[in-house]
This record gives sequence, C-alpha cells and structure tokens, in this order.
Amino acid sequence: MKRADSLFALFFLTAAALPAQYKMPNPQVAKIVSEVSDEKITEILKKLESFGTRNILSVQDNPTRGVGAARKWIYEQFRGYSPKLEVSFDQYKLKKIEGRASRVPRDVDLYNVVAVLPGTTNKEQRIIISGHYDSIVMGRPTGGAPPAPGDPPPPMRDPDLDAPGVTDDGSGTACVMELARVLSHYEFEKTLVFIAFAGEEEGLLGSALYAEKARAASQKIEAVLNNDIIGSDVSGSGRRENRRVSVFSDDPDDSPSRELARYVKDIGERYLPAMHVDTIFRADRFGRGGDHTPFNQEGFAAVRLSSPQENFANQHSVTDTFANTSVPYITLVTKVNGAAAASLAWAPKAPITSEIGERNGQKVTTLLLTRGKTRYDAALKWKRENPEADLAGYAVVSRSTTAPYWEREIFVGNVTEYTLPDVSIDELVFGVKAIDKEGNESLVTPYGQAPRAKRKIEVY
Ligand SMILES: [Zn+2]
Repeated sequence: MKRADSLFALFFLTAAALPAQYKMPNPQVAKIVSEVSDEKITEILKKLESFGTRNILSVQDNPTRGVGAARKWIYEQFRGYSPKLEVSFDQYKLKKIEGRASRVPRDVDLYNVVAVLPGTTNKEQRIIISGHYDSIVMGRPTGGAPPAPGDPPPPMRDPDLDAPGVTDDGSGTACVMELARVLSHYEFEKTLVFIAFAGEEEGLLGSALYAEKARAASQKIEAVLNNDIIGSDVSGSGRRENRRVSVFSDDPDDSPSRELARYVKDIGERYLPAMHVDTIFRADRFGRGGDHTPFNQEGFAAVRLSSPQENFANQHSVTDTFANTSVPYITLVTKVNGAAAASLAWAPKAPITSEIGERNGQKVTTLLLTRGKTRYDAALKWKRENPEADLAGYAVVSRSTTAPYWEREIFVGNVTEYTLPDVSIDELVFGVKAIDKEGNESLVTPYGQAPRAKRKIEVY
C-alpha cells in the first residue's frame, strides 16, 4: 500500500471507531425539546392558580380550593399522561414545629406527588426533575424586599387566604408536569422521577423527607434538576432577559452537583442554541433555600434552575399571578430540563475514577490517576460496571484549575485507560465520561483530590 493509501485507511479505521453522532444533537432529544408545549404549560398554570392557595395548612377536603384539591389534580394529571407512569403520594404526618414564627403551628399531613417512569437497562439509576407545588403568602406589604441574610422571617398569613404562587413555584411544577407528559411517551435506559414537592415554603420539608428516605434506601440518584421560580423574565428593577437561566450548584468545585451544572449547560445550549445557561458556582441565592439542598446534604448531585430576573414584590404575595408570569420563558427553561434529563437518561453510566481499598485496616480511596511509567505523563484509568450494549467509548476531558469549564476533550474509544504524554497532573483537572452510539453523554467523573488529613504530631 502506498503511504497515502495507508493514511487514508487509518483515517477510516479511526472514524469508524467514533460514534456516528458524537457531539451532534440526537434527533430523539431534539424531538422531545420540540414537543414541550406553551399551551399545556398555560393550562397547568391557570389550573394551579385556580386553587386559590396551595399552602400545606390550607383546606384539605374542598374539591376546588386549597392544597388537597391541588395535589389530587396533579396526581390525576400524572395518571392521565401515560399508563407507564407509576404515580403515588409520598405522604408524611408532620409534627407541629415550635416557635413564635413557626410556619407549621399545628400537626399536618404533607404529600409529595411522585410519578416514576421506570427505565429499561439501567433501571436503578435515577434522574429526578422537581419543583414545589405548595405556595405561601407572607405578612409583609407588597413591594417589600426579601429578608437579607440573617433577618428574621416575616410572619405567615392565614393559610386559607389567597396564595396563587404561579411563579413560585407553579412555574417549576408546570415544568415537572409537562416533562412527565412528554417524556412518558418514550422509553429510557434510566429511571426518570417527576416530583411535585410540598412544604418547601415551611423549610424544604417534603424534599428533605424524600431525600433522607432515598439515602436510607441506597437509591442511586444521578441527578436532581430542581426548578424553582422559572417564570419571571422581568426583575423588580426593570431588568429584562428571557434567554438566560441560572443553574446553582454547591461547592467544592468538581462536586457531583458542579459536574451536573456543567452538563446542563453543555447539553442545554446544544439543543437550545439561543439560550444562555449560566452556571452559578454557589449552592443557592443569598439567605434563601430550595429543594435541591436536602439532596446535596444527602450526598446527591442536585442543582437549582432559577430565573435571574426575580420580582421580589410578587414573591409570597397575592400578586404572584398568571398575569405576572411569562409562559414563553417557562417553556424555554422546561426545554433545557428536557434536553438534559433525556440525554442523561439515555446515556451510559458515568465511569468510576477511583478505587476503594484497605490499608492497615482502614478504608482508603485511591485515585486512578498517576504520572505513568515516565513519571511525567498524565496516566488515567477508569472502571465501569456492566458496560451498556450500546456503549461507544469514553472521552477524556481536561481544563486548567482556574477554568470553569472543560477546555479539551479527546474521544479515546472503548478502552479503560489513556495516557496524555508529557502532561503534568499537577497543573490540570481531569475527568472522563462515557458516550453511547447515539452520542448520548454521561456526566463527567472528575479525578478529584481529597484534602490532606490533619496529622497528630507527638511532642515531648
Ligand atoms: Zn419556591
């Protein structure tokens, strides 16, 4: 063979090893994105508003008003979307919380509404899309600013008074319900879980109870996409922007949540090129909370999607109405969620970049990253458990320690080690992800360095 021919053959061999659609939008995911509907989101928001209030302490047995009617309606909607959805109330008997400003001044029943779309080949891996359906109105004049960090919370008003909560968090609930409708017509490798939480306004109660139970049951939750206040595209200061969404993730850098935030940006912007997915490298907004945090506290990857244009005057107020929300904006953020969740639910499991062994009777975690034989290379190894039949291979990613996003990416094929010659492991951050034949990418598993343990030194 002439040299040119052999180069040509080599090119084709290499090309054949690459997944056909690598880095190209997966048409199935694009279809899902296109199916998210303005009209359906409008219907959901108007119906949620029609219950008057969804405060967990509001009337439970009125057929058209209050939290009881709202949760039954959400439950029935989930049931109607597809027979494949396993719908249930995740129910708790909540004890009264003591204290002068308590938002739970008496015992009350709390119901999260849950719809599970069971996966096929990676059923045990779960991806949660959540929002909170409860609402609240606080005793402060309309137009007030939210409490500054450290301020005592204002008192809650009578829970049976109107608390429309269309943006906070009818918007997140609409995202969850619309994606349950759209995604339940597809089959995914992993399990998707759609949750409308309750008791968020009383201190993240429904999500905390759920996350604790999931941890106790050793559930494998890969990702939680929590949507709270995704309906506002004009801030109280008049700032307007409807092509940006903030994704909050907790520290440290390269935490599971941080990798998930990078994933939402990468995939969200791939399928919605007009959107800016802004990763905010902090757990949440100042002095305020959301249902992703209890999942972080249990060690799960969980992020909050939220509008950067908040109108504080409407929040926790009777003016948080349909008229004051933006359906087109909610639809865009719902599409970002749909692209990320569908991609992840079809993607292979993320590879494992460390090994747990034993030294002197102690458990030790060893990173599968070395300087290689030369001692001047970056030698990466990773492990996989039951590789998927449609696995195409892995990509090695790297970036400078000060860079927010992965800067380089090399598809290395269906191997479990790769060496970057003459690359110092001290200067860069590395990671690896799995990719299937349709181009669906897993989360990146970074090679993260654990902090050095403090040593007790004896002196005399
Ligand atoms: Zn909220």
